[in-house]
Formats: sequence, structure tokens, C-alpha cells
Amino acid sequence: MWIGTGSSIVAWRAMKTTDDPGTLASRYWHRLEDGRVQCDLCPRECKLREGQRGFCFVRANEGDAVVLKTYGLSSGFCIDPIEKQPLSHFLPGTPVLSFGTAGCNLGCRFCQNWDMSKSREIATLADEASPEKIARVAEELGCRSVAFTYNDPVIFMEYAVDVAQACHERGIKAVAVTAGYISPEPRREFYRHMDAANVDLKGFSERFYSNVCSAHLEDVLETLVYLKEETDVWFEITTLLIPGENDSAEELGEMSEWVVENLGVDVPWHFSAFHPDWKMRNVRATPPATLARARNIAMERGVKFAYVGNVHNEAADSTWCPDCGEKLIGRDWYELTSWALGPGGKCARCGTTIPGVFEDAHGNWGRRRLPVSMKGR
Ligand code: SF4
Repeated sequence: MWIGTGSSIVAWRAMKTTDDPGTLASRYWHRLEDGRVQCDLCPRECKLREGQRGFCFVRANEGDAVVLKTYGLSSGFCIDPIEKQPLSHFLPGTPVLSFGTAGCNLGCRFCQNWDMSKSREIATLADEASPEKIARVAEELGCRSVAFTYNDPVIFMEYAVDVAQACHERGIKAVAVTAGYISPEPRREFYRHMDAANVDLKGFSERFYSNVCSAHLEDVLETLVYLKEETDVWFEITTLLIPGENDSAEELGEMSEWVVENLGVDVPWHFSAFHPDWKMRNVRATPPATLARARNIAMERGVKFAYVGNVHNEAADSTWCPDCGEKLIGRDWYELTSWALGPGGKCARCGTTIPGVFEDAHGNWGRRRLPVSMKGR
């Protein structure tokens, strides 16, 4: 067992009910009249008998209480460009220490990280790392932020919150990459500790969410509105376009109108390409033209910063001043190719302020991915 320095770390530690490595008592559950316990962390509200695991597989009923089984356990660490999350308006060009655990609370048939999100091999999660160790290693390696990614941090919320707190003590930011499928009370706790997030808006129909993702659209929209109206978290959204599933002009138009009306015109929106994977190997990859069309639809409805992802398209990957048309941040996939943003995140030509978290200088990490082992550190 390790000792954290943050008050939350001590608080979570105090709730530890077992000496099993990786097991930590959860705060979000209640007992049902029929003797089961209900996990209240996400809208799935799994009802569990003793010994049963939830849909996400990493929460379980042990000792008549809900516990998290992956505290401090990771499927591996890697230094990525922040653009890979993707975040285009948050400390551009800087390196981020990324990690995930196992399991997921959605059941997306197209999952691009299914080896981790569907993993039932908690025992083989390779890298054990305390929150303090992660923060220290991130600082030593020059990372400006730590990202909870690869699988959804909602399901390992207590670990993510403790890591975020340990990072903040060293001036390192915390980034969540998530589907936004979380219940209201834990949502407040979770986002209180995050500096930035990329939230998937996977489609704009209940049919798509329930048939393809085993989830519900309304809960995700609630999270996005919560982020916009009640937090200072910098957030961007991502839509993975799947041919024939969520890429119709009608659906994209409705989604764009909802985004403009509820989140405003300044939220950066990433349209990324699907590759056949997991249970959707019979669907073709997204043609680049589909991404460009989606970006156009969003911008026609008023979205100022729409991007394409997982393809080379420098024009559609770059940030342009919405007022004078100047190219401010050139990007090719994850790599910065030019920089013309002035001090304070303003367009150097016309002075328009670009929304985001910018410093006067950009990072130079490039497109590299560098695996990091925590062993011996
Ligand atoms: S976090 Fe996991 S166990 Fe809890 S409700 Fe969601 S899927 Fe079920």
C-alpha cells in the first residue's frame, strides 16, 4: 500500500476495505431491498449479488459493497502528443503521459481499443503505479499533462481523481478522454479534478447509442451541457464516423445544430475515421471525403473549429482564425507544422482571441509515441 499526500488520496485510502492489490471501496453505490447492491457510478446502474461484477467488469460486489478492482493497475504507459487525445486547443505540441486500465462501461461494437476495454485479464495488468509515482514520472519526463485514455476513466474514477490530485501538486494537468457516460453525483466529483476532457459524441440518435454502443444518448448530452454550463474544464468533442451508421447528412446536421445551440460555436469538434475492428469488421473504413463533408456540415451550422482525424488533411487539421482566415496552428495528423498564434492565444493578424488553453510558446513533441515502463522508477 502506498501513502498519498493529497487529502483525497488519504480519504480514498482510508476507505480501502481489503488487502487485495488493486481493490478499493467505491463511494457510489447503495443497497437494494432484495439484498443486492446497485453501483451508482454510471447510468447503467448495475445491480450485483455478492461476487458478481458489473458490465464494466472492474467493479464488483465484494463483502456486500461495491469495490473498484483496478486501483493503481494499468495496461501500460506511453508518452503521446496531446493532439492524439485529440485536443487541438490545449497546450498544443506538448507531450502527455497516457495510460488506461481495463474494462469499459459502454459496449461499442466498433471499439478501436477493444483489447483493453474488453479485457477480463485484470490480473495481468502490467504496470503498478501509485498516483504520486505517475505524477513524478510525468514531471521527470517533461510531460505537461497526464491523460486517462485507452479505456474510459469513469470506471476507474477513484484512481483517476487521485492521480489528478498528485499531478496538480507538481503543476501537471489532468486530461480525461471519455464517452461522458457518468451519473450526476460522481460527474461533479470527477470533473472537479480535471483540467481538460475530450468527450465522445458518438452519434445523434438513440438507435445508434442503444444498438451499437449499449448506452443512451441523453446521458451523454447531459454531461456535455454540464461541462459547458457548470465547469471551467476545457473540453473538445469527437465523433467517430462509421459508414452507414452515424454519417448521414441529416444526422450530422441535427447534431451540429444541437452543438451550436447547447455548447456554443467555440467548442472544437473532431471528426475521425473508423477502421474495421472488434465486432464491426464487415464495415468499410471511413472515406476521407466523409470526414471533410461532416466538417463542412458542422461549419455551415456555425461551428468555428472543426477538424478531421486519423487521416492526412493539413487544411482540415489546422486551426484557422474564424475572423480573418489566417492559418494560426498548422497541423498534419498529430504534428504541428506552423505556428502563428500571438500572445494570449490571439490571432497575430487581427487580434481575435482563439478559445482554448494556450501558452506563448508551443511544444515540440511532434508525432512520436514513446512507451514508458513504470518498473524500477
Ligand atoms: S461503473 Fe461499471 S458496475 Fe458501475 S454501473 Fe457502470 S458499468 Fe455497472
